[in-house]
Amino acid sequence: MPDSWGLKLAEPLFEKLTIVGCGLIGSSLLRVARRNNLARVLVAADASPAVCHRVMELALADEAMTNLTSAVAGAGLVILCVPVGANEAVGKAIGPALAPGAIVSDVGSVKGAVLAALSPHMPAGVHLIPAHPVAGTEHSGPDAGFATLFLNRWCILTPPAEADSLAVSQLSNFWTAAGSNVEVMSAEHHDLVLAITSHVPHLIAYNIVGTAADLELVTQSEVIKFSAGGFRDFTRIAASDPTMWRDVFLNNKEAVLEILGRFTEDLSALQRMIRWGDGDGLFELFTRTRNIRRSIIESGQETSAPDFGRHQADPQ
Ligand code: NAP
Repeated sequence: MPDSWGLKLAEPLFEKLTIVGCGLIGSSLLRVARRNNLARVLVAADASPAVCHRVMELALADEAMTNLTSAVAGAGLVILCVPVGANEAVGKAIGPALAPGAIVSDVGSVKGAVLAALSPHMPAGVHLIPAHPVAGTEHSGPDAGFATLFLNRWCILTPPAEADSLAVSQLSNFWTAAGSNVEVMSAEHHDLVLAITSHVPHLIAYNIVGTAADLELVTQSEVIKFSAGGFRDFTRIAASDPTMWRDVFLNNKEAVLEILGRFTEDLSALQRMIRWGDGDGLFELFTRTRNIRRSIIESGQETSAPDFGRHQADPQ
């Protein structure tokens, strides 16, 4: 990746940025914030002393601490990068320590539930603007992060209807300077879009890998040996963090069940086509799906390289 993204700011956007939760996403944000001069002071907070220690070893922040209230005090921007289910406890803990005028955001893969969990704990004068960078890998922890994670990826902001427009544009500027393209939509719409593009695909991957693990007629070693036939790519998705994904499904129940209902109907239709030898029907569907992949490549969200282009798409 070239060193000059053209995004390094002459003046930082915020005096102090606090990242709560320094795993894959949080540590990537610290890295890009440092690299592109997004804030003058970077503070990391994490429930785990070992993570804080590692953040300092990697020199990702000016300070790292387990005390959330000290970490957020005086910060102009606080971004929660914890599993979706942990946001409520974090919001409750930091609420009283937030500076007036501060922007509080998050990176959770579900937006409606996060908005509901955080809103009651935000004092008057603090701007809550949830966000979701649609970027990631199956790895976790501070060592897994990298500064280019958000480059040319989308970040979706889901401000509540009454949100302060200046705060929304400040957060939008932050994500743009981190390399992302920004889109704004309602939390409800986000949750439906992500159910089809991310949540249900993960559920399908978890399910097929689970099914393979439980098969009696095909041995585990055969599954592994012949995995390049398609299974291998599902295992990459199904290796994603169990805590994060448990929280996604528990917190986006309605949209996931809606999309899953449609998926099950379409799967039954496919089952019928196979049973009745409807080759034309199968061919027509596979042609349409191939075109969707082409569109994804043309929009720059994937490369056409074999192996799902993942080595090129996700530089570590
Ligand atoms: P991660 O690598 O597991 O990092 C999460 C970090 O948060 C861990 O260091 C964890 O500490 C810490 N943490 C957990 N509970 C906490 C609490 N109550 N207070 C302070 N720190 C706490 O996870 P991640 O992949 O970065 O995901 C973080 C968020 O990003 C999730 O909400 C997820 O939905 C969202 N997201 C993820 C991806 C992706 O591909 N991974 C993409 C987009 C958005 P412990 O390890 O000690 O628990």
